[in-house]
Amino acid sequence: MSAALAYDHRAALYSRVSRVIPPLEWPSFADDVDAILALKRERNAVVLAHNYMTPEIFHCVSDITGDSLLLAREAQTVQADVIVMAGVHFMAETAKMLNPGKMVLIPDVEAGCSLASSITAADVRLLRQRYPGRPVITYVNTSAEVKAESDICCTSGNAKKIVESLGVPEVIMIPDKYLAANVARETGVKIIAWEGACEVHERFTPRQIRTLRAENPGVVVLAHPECPPDVVDAADFAGSTAAMSDYVTHRQPGRVVLITECSMADNVAVLHPKIDFVRPCNLCPHMKRISLGNIRSALEHLQHEVVIAPDVAARARQAVERMLAV
Ligand code: SF4
Repeated sequence: MSAALAYDHRAALYSRVSRVIPPLEWPSFADDVDAILALKRERNAVVLAHNYMTPEIFHCVSDITGDSLLLAREAQTVQADVIVMAGVHFMAETAKMLNPGKMVLIPDVEAGCSLASSITAADVRLLRQRYPGRPVITYVNTSAEVKAESDICCTSGNAKKIVESLGVPEVIMIPDKYLAANVARETGVKIIAWEGACEVHERFTPRQIRTLRAENPGVVVLAHPECPPDVVDAADFAGSTAAMSDYVTHRQPGRVVLITECSMADNVAVLHPKIDFVRPCNLCPHMKRISLGNIRSALEHLQHEVVIAPDVAARARQAVERMLAV
């Protein structure tokens, strides 16, 4: 590429994120962005990025972006040889189990999740012994081993629908106690929950929302259902990251706050320059382990490949596919 073309190309990329990345910061990203775009072509790779990725990842190097439900659906049909998951480990595992012929890479193997680490396969077997006959609905924010012990999976975007689809009065729903409580209120189904929580969403409080409303008159508050029920009650709307994004797109509130991980508001704000985004900030330390630098290394060295034992993958895949069929 000539120097002039390279300059134009970088300027076009920067224009996508100029609302949320200061001009002084951009040069520190530009080389990695160029290298990743070239490596994707060389390796026949795609980058799937969760809504909580930072804007330079989300808007500059990703091929598919969305919440965990959308990433799971899209992973199934990826034709490229290599999938790089710009997200956390359970998302990379889900991509691998749904498209086992592909090489799936996670840029940092330590990118975990407080929900996924709260429960093991042995815990699920004990729950089944204690509450026989109740179907086990497992949030996708879990390891493949835990999914393998489950009847069906759910995401925050479809949890209500999945619970209702089973048509039973009582279910086991793991591992997020807040999502379980929020869904129980919406469905009237009795839910036996686990004591897990998202370390990002459980930190929000109703008091914080009252303060946000007082300081930002007219603000519309959208909350993620991993938040405690009293936070959901204090919001104007509760939904997955995809539902929040849709709300902003279709309702075009003048001023809005997304009660979820910090980068989500940055990524949505890029698309809606006329909307005023109020940004209280709770970072997910696991999501923030993913950077342009380690995405580049993953592609350069084809590291770190996600491997799942075939019998675990087969059983876990059934639970995920049952969810996708609902
Ligand atoms: S935001 Fe919460 S649920 Fe999502 S990866 Fe981080 S800890 Fe897990």
